[in-house]
Amino acid sequence: MRNVIYKLPDQIANQIAAGEVVQRPGSVVKELIENAVDAHSTCIKVVIKDAGKTLIYVEDNGDGMSHADALLCFERHATSKLKTAEDLFKIATKGFRGEALASIAAISQVEMITKKEGSELATKVIIEGNETKEHEVCAGNKGTQFSVKHLFYNVPARRYFLKSDSIEWKHIVEEFIRVALVHPEVEMILEHNDSVEMHLPAGPLRQRIVKVMGSKFQDWLVPIDEETHWLKIKGFVVKPEGAKKSRGDQYFFVNNRFIKNSYLHHAVQTIFNPNIPDGYFAGYFIQLELDSSLIDVNIHPTKTEIKFQDERSVYAILHAATRRALGIHNALPSLDFDQSGNYVTPVHSGTEIKVPSTGVTGNYNPFGPSAAKRDVVQEWLQLQAEMHQSVKEVQLSGQRSLNDDFQSELEIKPIQLFKKWIVFEYNDEMWMVDQAKAHQQVIFESMMSKPLQIQSQTLLEPFVLDLGEKKKSIFKEVEPCLTTLGFVWELHDNQCSFTAMPVLSNQHEGQEWLMDIFDDWLDGYERVESAQALWTWKKAKGESIRNGQFLTVPEMRELVFDLLKCENPFFNPDHKKIIFKVNSQQIQKAFVL
Ligand code: ADP
Ligand code: MG
Repeated sequence: MRNVIYKLPDQIANQIAAGEVVQRPGSVVKELIENAVDAHSTCIKVVIKDAGKTLIYVEDNGDGMSHADALLCFERHATSKLKTAEDLFKIATKGFRGEALASIAAISQVEMITKKEGSELATKVIIEGNETKEHEVCAGNKGTQFSVKHLFYNVPARRYFLKSDSIEWKHIVEEFIRVALVHPEVEMILEHNDSVEMHLPAGPLRQRIVKVMGSKFQDWLVPIDEETHWLKIKGFVVKPEGAKKSRGDQYFFVNNRFIKNSYLHHAVQTIFNPNIPDGYFAGYFIQLELDSSLIDVNIHPTKTEIKFQDERSVYAILHAATRRALGIHNALPSLDFDQSGNYVTPVHSGTEIKVPSTGVTGNYNPFGPSAAKRDVVQEWLQLQAEMHQSVKEVQLSGQRSLNDDFQSELEIKPIQLFKKWIVFEYNDEMWMVDQAKAHQQVIFESMMSKPLQIQSQTLLEPFVLDLGEKKKSIFKEVEPCLTTLGFVWELHDNQCSFTAMPVLSNQHEGQEWLMDIFDDWLDGYERVESAQALWTWKKAKGESIRNGQFLTVPEMRELVFDLLKCENPFFNPDHKKIIFKVNSQQIQKAFVL
């Protein structure tokens, strides 16, 4: 019989593996600046062309590499940061898998010049698709310069899946900021298409956050600072008045590495919830430090997810520390923080680590670690299934709108539940309609079907907004949207002076609008690409009825009919569900243990 198994050539194996590490230009930026930080650089300069699709250049003044290392560093599993498997548990550097450079070199054209301190000459290496094209000694400065050109040039499918320049640029900015916010001691510069988008001088953390996020944060930052014998928490939380309707200002770092963790977010968010409006998100820049043996960073190639050995205790301490920070700084007026400060149980028991007791969370843990993961996945799957279902339903209904069915076939008998949901029976199913979302959708779709009409008014006095480096770096992307909406401005450094804006009820509203537009963009809502959708959606949200409003039966009926006339009655532009349906079997099941 003919054998069918053969070993993939290195080049192909590397390309496949590269897919895990390098998803987009932003991933390359992340890996290269992390390497520069690992190499003890004090200044890192990043130059980008065409959102990284043409060029990603990273220059540092760090340790540099010897001639031999310079040739070896592109090999898979070539690393200076790990020697034995045990070392994995005491990782202090950002990299350690020795995969980044091999992956980057597999899918781009790389030129690297590097020189160690004390070496006379630098080494230059040119490598394309993992094949070394050239290497020579040359003159150069201490440190390393990487040029990564034509990303995915040899993997057309991957290149095809890259998003628009503005979206890829946003990812680059986010990766840059994630390193910048935890290494304020390093000067960092980011240029795009020949203009300097961010220049962050070295300095204290508070100064760096304010520079990145904007001057308002000067007043909003409250230090968080706690230490138990096994966990240190430092950084800042943002006062409740700085909470936002959109995500984007949440930064957790564990041992100087940015991580995402919805469970820990919950620990902070629940402290804020009573003090911020529904649907707002707490902002924070929190650094957790703990022995590397108590975490596992090696669960994902990009390392933004990590496992804590004892996630519940981290949750409890973080929760209490947040409460205390806000309490001490009077950011939460009604807090009794005496009681909440008692979580630290000084343990002087040698090396053995005991879980600190907590007076805060007790057994209450609605988002247990495994539960949290399962929920997200399940919700997503469910959402996908429902999306499919709703598309199918709309297709099935063909020319006949859902509303015709309703009107011709039956009179629905809606009732209002908790002044929030309209509930009725239809076709063996119980339908629950979110009244506020339904009305927003009705207004949104009807406004979208008409041409956009916006009047701009000149302001008697311009209002000046400090954008901060983060917003400034994406200013070019939102410019067309702002222009269409009638904003007129002059930009000097980070100071944007607005001389005209759309006619809104007051200037404050105008400022809020601006902030929301930036946030929407940073959060990745496509609607920002269309000024009309953005404007209309915000208007619709402002004008709709709210939850808590009593509705009569005819009003409910009219709203349901109007909703079902919409093109998208099931999901709103935020991808949130408007209608929830359960059939009688599902209800029946709920009664079975
Ligand atoms: P890792 O960071 O996981 O070790 P990489 O593929 O990112 O793997 O890098 C491989 C090795 O190349 C690093 O361990 C380091 O020794 C060296 N290196 C990479 N970038 C730099 C740099 N900017 N300065 C000095 N050495 C570097
Ligand atoms: Mg690395």
